[in-house]
Amino acid sequence: MPELPEVETTRRALIPLLEGQTLTAVTTSGKRLRQPVPPLDSLVGTTVTALARRAKYLLLGLSNSQTLLIHLGMSGRLTTAPPHAKHTHLTLTTAHASVSLYDPRRFGLILLTPTATLHNHPLLAPLGPEPLDDTAFTPTHLYASSHARNTPLKPFLMDARTVVGVGNIYASESLFRARLSPTMPAGKLTRKQAESLVEHIRQTLTDAIHAGGSSLRDYAHPSGQLGNFQSTFNVYGRKGQPCPACGTPITHITQAQRSTFYCPVCQK
Ligand SMILES: [Zn+2]
Repeated sequence: MPELPEVETTRRALIPLLEGQTLTAVTTSGKRLRQPVPPLDSLVGTTVTALARRAKYLLLGLSNSQTLLIHLGMSGRLTTAPPHAKHTHLTLTTAHASVSLYDPRRFGLILLTPTATLHNHPLLAPLGPEPLDDTAFTPTHLYASSHARNTPLKPFLMDARTVVGVGNIYASESLFRARLSPTMPAGKLTRKQAESLVEHIRQTLTDAIHAGGSSLRDYAHPSGQLGNFQSTFNVYGRKGQPCPACGTPITHITQAQRSTFYCPVCQK
């Protein structure tokens, strides 16, 4: 499933292709994704004024005061070269490029919403702070939200009300870097640990974006190029392999139906 670094990598790759460009054609497959795709014929002739992101939603601001919201779901990707027409559900064409949403499992989402009220949209309004926004996602915020919470630390970090975009891979990797146990109750987090965790979450996500994301399960850049952050994983997917810091075999457990990987010695 594409996580925040993969969505951000996609956004950055699409900016030169779409921003400031006029849409000369917009086609859809007519198939239902997570929700029915709205009619998009009215977008022909509009210009993409901005390509933003909130959590894992890509937000294409348009010159007609509407925003096209795209979520990649489980297996979606935006690409200039869709592998099969069969699973291509949206194609945006400009004078210079065409960008398609390729989504075999169809858990993706395409919505059109007025830009003026975008952040009140029911999907966006309840979201917590962006992890890379250092004025919103602060140690004070993390420490205050963890207060009196019994939820184990990893599912707490993956809760979008705590912070958005810390998905399964990056939660495990950030907790390893911060040397914190994924099973400790969030309410036990000290002020100092909150500071360390905020720093490591931000650094882990930034490193992943610089590496072009992690190319696991269908993810690729719009150009088809692969990200390589997965080659630097310390714990994720490394059950039984030695911890890079102390050599202890990495442990695998399931928390809130998701796989968690950690070092039982470094992350006590
Ligand atoms: Zn270790």
